[in-house]
Order: sequence, then structure tokens, then C-alpha cells
Amino acid sequence: MTNNDQSAPDRYGLVGHPVAHSRSPLIHSMFARQTRQRLTYELFDAEPAAFETTVRGFGAAGGKGLNVTVPHKEVAFALCDEASAAASAARAVNTISIVAGRLHGDNTDGVGFIRDVKVNQRQTLAGVRIAVLGAGGAARGIVGPLLAEQPAELTIANRTKERADQLVEQFAAAGLVARTFAELGDLPPMDVLVNATSAGLRGETPPFPASLVGPQSFCYDLVYGTSATPFVVWARSHGAGRAVQGWGMLVEQAAESFAIWRGIRPDTRTLLKQLAR
Ligand code: NDP
Repeated sequence: MTNNDQSAPDRYGLVGHPVAHSRSPLIHSMFARQTRQRLTYELFDAEPAAFETTVRGFGAAGGKGLNVTVPHKEVAFALCDEASAAASAARAVNTISIVAGRLHGDNTDGVGFIRDVKVNQRQTLAGVRIAVLGAGGAARGIVGPLLAEQPAELTIANRTKERADQLVEQFAAAGLVARTFAELGDLPPMDVLVNATSAGLRGETPPFPASLVGPQSFCYDLVYGTSATPFVVWARSHGAGRAVQGWGMLVEQAAESFAIWRGIRPDTRTLLKQLAR
């Protein structure tokens, strides 16, 4: 579509539950302005029972693509007609492209996360000791890309141990182990500690051993907010060398989705400066 086209702009959106406070419409409208693309980006609040009808209804109405967020990423993978290598590895989809009624699933969480950590935060991942806290949809997206960086070891810990076991069995890589949060207490401080849980968001102290954090630790919270997140507060209070929240991942995964849909990758630097870090 050209910029002078008088037809209706292409439609995109985000489906999740809840979605009301999402920054994705703002991010995608800034990307569209920067790259001179005509498009709209809407929010769809869909409970699990309404997910499939929401996606199919949007496609039937001419929608071109959807981002998918909590709690639908794993169901979205099952719903798609085709999946990219990243989505197949994660068994989770956060980006759907709708072409001639067919749903193509992709996962940009992992590449967005790695780009924020390595490029924006300048944190080395090769050869270091990493722990990912959580084994939900977001953790599924980042484990494969983290392993590709060849860390010395990668520990996945989750409240429900079986989900961490499943992830470790699925990727079956050397140095990849599953633990409970309590079992993390035996380990020396991590070089990189990633929070991919929603623990602490209801005001309770995050349930992770403080011994995981030391002055050399880079702590990354996938969760983001307008003030320091509970995990960032917790990490700093235990002496973390650095603790950052997931604004950068949000922007980078959005840029990757935008590139899949529009064939042009926006420059994320301006936006990253504008959003709270
Ligand atoms: P899921 O619902 O799939 O998984 C939630 C995870 O949090 C599970 O591992 C769950 O453990 C754990 N958990 C929830 N409550 C607690 C608790 N009280 N104590 C300990 N563990 C808990 O969500 P996602 O994986 O999709 O998302 C996780 C977070 O990451 C969300 O807050 C989301 O906003 C954020 N995110 C940020 C992105 C970004 O771009 N910055 C991208 C994607 C996600 P259990 O298995 O035991 O239930």
C-alpha cells in the first residue's frame, strides 16, 4: 500500500486479557509514523473462551495481523495454520499474520529480549551463568534464543516444577536444568537473572532466594511499569549490579512484529529514549 492510497488503512491489533493498559497501540502508531506506513492498531480484550472467535472475526473483517499476549500465546500456537521456527520452538505465538484467511504464527519475544539485553543493555550472554524464573508463555519464548547464545549454564525455575521440567525436556540442551525456587538457594549468585513470572505484582515479596543476587548480577524483569517493578526493587535491595525492567523487550518485540507485517523494521532508539526504563 502506498502512502497516498485513499483506501482504508490496514488493520492490526493486540488480543489478550486484560489489554486495557497496553502501550502497544502507542508503539505501533509511532513505528507507523516513522516508517510512513498507513495502518491502525486496536485492542481486543478476549477471555480464553472468546479467543478463537476474536481472531477469526478480525480476519474475516479484513484484519491483517494480531499480537497475542497473556494468557493466549500457547493457544494461539495451536490455532495457527503455519508456524515459524521461533514459534515452533517456543510452542507459543505472539504475532499472527492473516493472509487469505490463513493464520501464520511467529514469536518475536525471544529475539526482542535478546536484542534488548545484548544491544541496548550491552550485557554478554555467552559463557555466563543464567537463571530464568518462570516457565510460562514468555519463558517459552526466550529459552531457545538464550541457549543459542551459548551460556555456561541455564537454569529454569518455576513455582510449578513440572512446567520447568517440560521446558528442559523440550529443549534437551547441555547445561539446561530445571529447579524449584527453593532449590535455587544452593547456587552461587547468577551472572544474569531473568524474571519471567508475574510474582510480586500483588504486593508480596518475590519468592526467590536472595543468594541468587550479587554485585556481578544483571537482573532483567520482563515485567514493566511506570515505577520500579517488585522484582527490580527486590534485586536492588539484595545488591544487584544492575536491575532493569522490560520496556526495551516490549519495544524490540513490537519492532520485530512490525517488520514481519510491513517488511520494514523501525528504528527503536527514539522510542526507547521516550519510554520509562
Ligand atoms: P504466563 O501466565 O504464561 O506465566 C506466568 C508465570 O508466572 C508462570 O511461570 C507462573 O508460575 C508464574 N507465577 C505467577 N504468579 C506467581 C507467583 N505468585 N509466584 C511465583 N510464580 C508465579 O505469563 P507470561 O509468561 O506470558 O508472562 C509473564 C510476565 O512477563 C507477564 O507479567 C508479562 O506481562 C511479562 N511479559 C513481558 C514482555 C515484554 O515485552 N517485556 C513480553 C512477554 C511477557 P506457575 O507455572 O507455577 O503458574
